Amino acid sequence: ILSVQGVRKVFGSQVVLSSLDLDVDEHQVVALIGASGSGKSTLLRCVNLLEEIDDGMIWLDGSHITDPRVNPDKVRQRIGIVFQSYNLFPHMTVLENVILAPVRVHGRSSKEATDAAREWLTRVGLGDKADAYPDRLSGGQQQRVAIVRALINSPRLLLLDEVTSALDPELVGEVLSMIRDLKGEGMTMVLATHEMGFARQVADRVCFLDGGKVLEQGPPEQVFGDPREPRTRQFLSRII
Ligand code: ATP
Ligand code: MG
Repeated sequence: ILSVQGVRKVFGSQVVLSSLDLDVDEHQVVALIGASGSGKSTLLRCVNLLEEIDDGMIWLDGSHITDPRVNPDKVRQRIGIVFQSYNLFPHMTVLENVILAPVRVHGRSSKEATDAAREWLTRVGLGDKADAYPDRLSGGQQQRVAIVRALINSPRLLLLDEVTSALDPELVGEVLSMIRDLKGEGMTMVLATHEMGFARQVADRVCFLDGGKVLEQGPPEQVFGDPREPRTRQFLSRII
């Protein structure tokens, strides 16, 4: 459903992504791993059209989303993204945070968005938190709200950037289990992570980013257990 073709992204004189290719099938979960600065977040931001690419093309569901004539808001309705810092608005309740974009940006009715939001919150065990303000929630609960906010438009694809990195270790589990549930429901996801255990548990495929490209990819058992590329081996030996 996602096809990243020959994408190049440059910041000043720094080439971050260079002719990068990545294909993701429907219901697949792909983990991006790689050193800090290897471009994992940049790639996710390019897919969500938060960064403009310098060359190449990105396709979603057979449509060319990096065509300059495409309305980015329409694309973002089909792609949810969640960041390490959950970015909830502190002066809005959980429910208001979740329905803000669908109502303001995507023109859904407040009633319909509220019903959808309550249903999602209940599903992830946060039904009783709808009217609470974010500072009353644990980090894990806030991150689950941020994921619900990304799911509210029923996206075709969910992008997760280090969604457990800011959490205390005892709160990581609840977010991981939510992601595992989403995988069970067939959600297509691309996630960037430094946690190899997480990648191993949820990913169908692991992609190692190095030198602006996907240097090596395969099932987690293969990439973690028997990496082909010396650079992958070197990276893994430093962090595991
Ligand atoms: P980490 O594992 O630390 O999250 P990453 O793989 O996500 O790293 P990116 O955040 O994509 O890496 O950054 C890739 C490179 O691009 C880095 O060298 C970073 O400094 C640079 N970069 C990212 N965003 C910008 C920006 N807006 N302006 C200039 N340089 C940027
Ligand atoms: Mg990053």
